[in-house]
Amino acid sequence: MSKHIVVIGAGVVGAAVAHHCLRAGLKVTLLEPGKPGDAQAASFGNAGWLSSHSILPPAYPGVWKQVPKWLLDPLGPLTVRWRHLPKAIPWLSAYLASAWTHQQVKNTSISLRTLLRDAPNLHKEMANQIGVGNLICLREVLHTYPTQADFEADSIGWDIRRDAGVTWRCLNKKLLHDLEPELNAKYEWGVLVDGTGYCLNPSDYVKALVEDSLQAGATLKRASAHSFNFINGKLASVNTSAGLIECDAAVIAAGARAKELALEAGDHLPLATERGYHYVVQAPGQGPNHPTMFMDQKVIVTPLSSGIRIAGQVEIAGLDDAPNWQRAEILRQHLATLYPRLADNISTDHINVWMGRRPSLPDGLPCIGFASGSQSVIHAFGHGHVGLASSARTGRLVAQLLTNTSPEIELKPFSPQRFKNKQSVS
Ligand SMILES: Cc1cc2nc3c(=O)[nH]c(=O)nc-3n(C[C@H](O)[C@H](O)[C@H](O)COP(=O)(O)OP(=O)(O)OC[C@H]3O[C@@H](n4cnc5c(N)ncnc54)[C@H](O)[C@@H]3O)c2cc1C
Repeated sequence: MSKHIVVIGAGVVGAAVAHHCLRAGLKVTLLEPGKPGDAQAASFGNAGWLSSHSILPPAYPGVWKQVPKWLLDPLGPLTVRWRHLPKAIPWLSAYLASAWTHQQVKNTSISLRTLLRDAPNLHKEMANQIGVGNLICLREVLHTYPTQADFEADSIGWDIRRDAGVTWRCLNKKLLHDLEPELNAKYEWGVLVDGTGYCLNPSDYVKALVEDSLQAGATLKRASAHSFNFINGKLASVNTSAGLIECDAAVIAAGARAKELALEAGDHLPLATERGYHYVVQAPGQGPNHPTMFMDQKVIVTPLSSGIRIAGQVEIAGLDDAPNWQRAEILRQHLATLYPRLADNISTDHINVWMGRRPSLPDGLPCIGFASGSQSVIHAFGHGHVGLASSARTGRLVAQLLTNTSPEIELKPFSPQRFKNKQSVS
């Protein structure tokens, strides 16, 4: 009889895990309190990037020097809820410490690249298998800078990417504006990155993955997991808000809410949330041709099937603190400036805004691997800024672990045990 796996959480990571487990011949129950693909999950509202080159951790050497400027700028990319600061300080310190030197950043980038290298193709393959290949666009993405000097000032990051095998083409002002006629003239330098892609509708993608898994025999239970029952170190069942589910193994894919479950499985992990926001405007035929990251504002604008989405912001706050819609308003203002022709379409209503929780570990790498307490629980969370892109490979890796197959990449950098001998940061 096939092993029965409970996948906890049906964001894009849980959905990809379920997809690959079913194809590996396992029996799957998906546990999710909300509707799969809905706004409770970070997977609903991200920028859609399937960026094989997003290999730099969010922190970098000397970033702390920028922090006061960002915090004081009302339109800046970073904000901290002051009430939450004392709780966040250990995590923030570990976050800065993990990217203190260029060598550390390089090491992280090498690990992230193994996870992301062929992300667009893996997604295309998975989407084709479930009949929604049209949701995945294999296409270059664009980074823009106000000037060439700004790009050159950022050269360390691009050197690290080049060393990891990323390739791109630089665009001067003319080439950039030929490619993106609606872009604000203030941007004079572009970097068009090869081997990347994006998802036209991240929410529909999750829904389609879950729907396909259900058709392939998985069960969806609308409930949340809260603890595990072990017999002689082996998982016997998962306790949920809808009662107990017997199983052979469980995968924790609960995104930003995975911390308590990980503890139940024997791992005290410094998982926190970097909250982000989006704003969407419907403006057919307008805006960017390519998904574009504005390197000065740290925002991404992506032409999705649901409209033009601007996403970004890092808000350090409690998991359940109320959203601060001012952060989405900042994105709205940026959008009107970045693409002046869009300004007429942009309304100030709150219909098209969203706040989501990036599940983030301080070193910028996810946890993928067996729990300390039992080989029958697997951690698959903490994908931070790259959870959509890295979900396809994560799903494959988890299925490999569950079927005693050698993982296709080295999992040591993502080990849930890597924080064990470090000072407590949570
Ligand atoms: C503004 C923004 C922009 C982003 N842009 C990108 C991008 O362009 N590209 C990219 O790759 N990544 C991006 N990300 C990051 C990406 O969205 C996340 O890393 C990814 O969605 C995490 O997926 P997940 O499945 O781990 O978590 P989630 O999508 O949050 O899903 C977790 C699910 O688990 C469920 N759950 C929670 N607790 C329990 C429980 N106890 N029992 C059962 N279920 C539970 C939740 O209801 C939820 O549905 C962005 C994030 C934000 C916020």
